Amino acid sequence: MFCYQCEQTFRSDNKAGCAGAKGMCGKDAATADLQDVLLHVCEGIGQYLHRARRLGATDAEADRFLLFAFFTTLTNVNFSAAKFVEFIQRAAQLRDGAKALYEKAAREAGETPETLSGAAAFVPAKDMAGLLAQAGEAAIRKDVARLGEDVVGLRALVLYGLKGVCAYAHHACVLGEERDAIYAAVEHALDLLASEPEDIGPLLDEALALGRANFLAMEALDAANTGNFGTPEPTSVRVTPIKGKAILVSGHDLKDLHAILEATKDKGINVYTHGELLPAHSYPALRSYPHLAGNYGGAWQDQQKEFAEFPGPIVMTSNCLIEPQPRYRARIFTAGPVGWPGVRHIANEDFTQVVQAALALPGFAEDAEEQRITVGFGRAAVLGVADKVIDAVKSGAIRHFFMIGGCDGAAPGRNYYADFAHATPDDTVILTLGCGKYRFNKHDFGTVGGLPRLLDMGQCNDAYSALVVATKLAEAFGVGVNELPLSLIVSWFEQKAAAVLLTLLALGVRNVRLGPTLPAFLTPALVDVLVEKFGVLPIGDARADIDAALSRAA
Ligand code: SF4
Ligand code: SF4
Repeated sequence: MFCYQCEQTFRSDNKAGCAGAKGMCGKDAATADLQDVLLHVCEGIGQYLHRARRLGATDAEADRFLLFAFFTTLTNVNFSAAKFVEFIQRAAQLRDGAKALYEKAAREAGETPETLSGAAAFVPAKDMAGLLAQAGEAAIRKDVARLGEDVVGLRALVLYGLKGVCAYAHHACVLGEERDAIYAAVEHALDLLASEPEDIGPLLDEALALGRANFLAMEALDAANTGNFGTPEPTSVRVTPIKGKAILVSGHDLKDLHAILEATKDKGINVYTHGELLPAHSYPALRSYPHLAGNYGGAWQDQQKEFAEFPGPIVMTSNCLIEPQPRYRARIFTAGPVGWPGVRHIANEDFTQVVQAALALPGFAEDAEEQRITVGFGRAAVLGVADKVIDAVKSGAIRHFFMIGGCDGAAPGRNYYADFAHATPDDTVILTLGCGKYRFNKHDFGTVGGLPRLLDMGQCNDAYSALVVATKLAEAFGVGVNELPLSLIVSWFEQKAAAVLLTLLALGVRNVRLGPTLPAFLTPALVDVLVEKFGVLPIGDARADIDAALSRAA
């Protein structure tokens, strides 16, 4: 195996990448290699669908599968080698269907169909041993000796950015929002990757095209979430447990949470959100369930301790899962793209087993002391008080906005984000989203200009909301986003964050601070390109970075 797609990848001296028997996330070599093979077959699907689409023929089932398949390969999503053997066989069937679709469309258009090679012609073995023997053909670094680290690193940027796009688009798709333009972009990127590009230029262009596609995917997801569950409103959420039977729902999937709330209605079970599902409490249609009792725990990297102590079943609906420990392995369930060998998987949103487990388990013996936080400052809430915000900026009451958003992780350097938030001056506002906020979201930052100083905009999945707010504020002030008194401090961990970064770059947002480390697949030469073209900066010392942001704005 070789994998360097996430921030926690193994690093030693100048080298980075997980290899050997297991990655830092616990993904074993077989699973990693099978994920590579799956994506290779998906490239073949993309080759055919890309050509078929140009002739007016599409295959919605294959497109949806591409989103799902890519999502399964994100960091901390699916660790089940056996599942990947199944996914590869399904991908091969869909690839054959895409080939037939393309060839029929070509003939009907009076064209001779192209005979495609590479991924399009790859015949996956029928069993795991055979597939593992083929993995070398699909490895991300297979051409590194010939092409060098820069080209391979850029291919990786495109592949990992594509994973993020697919994950967001999958979340939107399950809630009924799909966009042809997203599917076209996914197919285009797969076709490019299948062509094994050797030049920097087209790869950079593709990375930015994926950034634009990701904006569409985030817009679709925003439409899916608000269309199904209403517009998020500022909401006080209990963050301590109450007595009674309990289910904990983690991950990012509001649809699964809704299905669990329905399945537990009037059954005397309290449902708690964990991690990135915290913003669910601000959606009217979810908040209307009185047994959506509160939020329990924090970011994903603390889940082994928190899940062990939770006295009920746990459902992991999407990223970010880490190895289930013996103390809770029998009461954790996976859903959607998530998987772990031996852990029960919920298919078709039938959460009956989870309800039965909750009734059989003790639940919380007593109420904990009540503590609450406020969430739900999505784009509607912030723009609803836009006049107040603009007046406060014009009067000087608000000097600056710091968007401190993104993923958390276990690396010690991540204290930076909490240090940064705590060191922001009192006349500044902190916008936040993603699980990085758990490092500071229970702190009372007070108010400024009549607004809370800390505005929680939601999940990493809600990055669209932040971009809309920035764009609207820029319009109101008659300037570009880069001229706003706004700094973006982004913590990245995995491939959704890589896609959001590409979106920021594609939208022309400059001077983003990225940390805690720069992606290992970006070589020094590629980092130079990002610095030169987009002003991307590494994080440094929190106070010095705040001073630099404020002096740039002054
Ligand atoms: S996902 Fe991250 S931690 Fe896991 S194998 Fe890949 S680089 Fe390593
Ligand atoms: S913000 Fe990133 S690390 Fe955190 S739960 Fe979401 S995807 Fe995972």
